[in-house]
Amino acid sequence: MHILLVEDDDRVAAALRPALHRHGMTTTRLSVGRGAVDHLADVDVVLLDLGLPDIDGVDVCRAIREVSEVPIIVVSARGEVDDRILGLHSGADDYLVKPYDIGELVARVHTVYRRSRVGPSATADVVQVADVSVDLQRHTVTVGGEPVSLTRKEFQVLAMLASSGGAVCTRNRIVAEVWGRTWAGANRTLDVHVATLRTKLGRADLVQTVRGVGYRLGLPGAEDG
Ligand code: CA
Repeated sequence: MHILLVEDDDRVAAALRPALHRHGMTTTRLSVGRGAVDHLADVDVVLLDLGLPDIDGVDVCRAIREVSEVPIIVVSARGEVDDRILGLHSGADDYLVKPYDIGELVARVHTVYRRSRVGPSATADVVQVADVSVDLQRHTVTVGGEPVSLTRKEFQVLAMLASSGGAVCTRNRIVAEVWGRTWAGANRTLDVHVATLRTKLGRADLVQTVRGVGYRLGLPGAEDG
């Protein structure tokens, strides 16, 4: 696995690279954000520091997303919720706050990498989360083996979250994909659909709200934050 490390702090990079290499990864390091999009060839995962000397990491994230679906993990020393939201809105797949545990980082890298390899078009036909089973081909849902009747839109929202493997789906993306358009009251409509979904599934914690961003499925063992 090849990692593009965009990190201006020499000490962080010097500590990180050998650790990643020990886990069988190869790395390319950039100490500035400008030009990062020119280094994406053969890159499997991007580790992107948000605090860069030349341009904001969020802008780097957006620029990468314009040209590539490569998984991006944004890293920030600031750790503000705003950063996390901004990063996820800008197309990042995950978010880590410095200082982080290297084992944690490696685990996240593997997770986003695995997810990217599966891809939305090649997901499993049936997604199982705890005792909830979502059949993406047959458009059926069971909870504890019992079928649950969902409206078409409710199912589409659930299917989208299920296909994302625990990743956050932004409100805008859900609305755009499920309704095919967006309008002034779209957020409210989405909230209503999520509320009925939770009620019908009887698993209130399954569809988790990521405040200010969107929703995701709460997978067993998935970390919050
Ligand atoms: Ca920095």
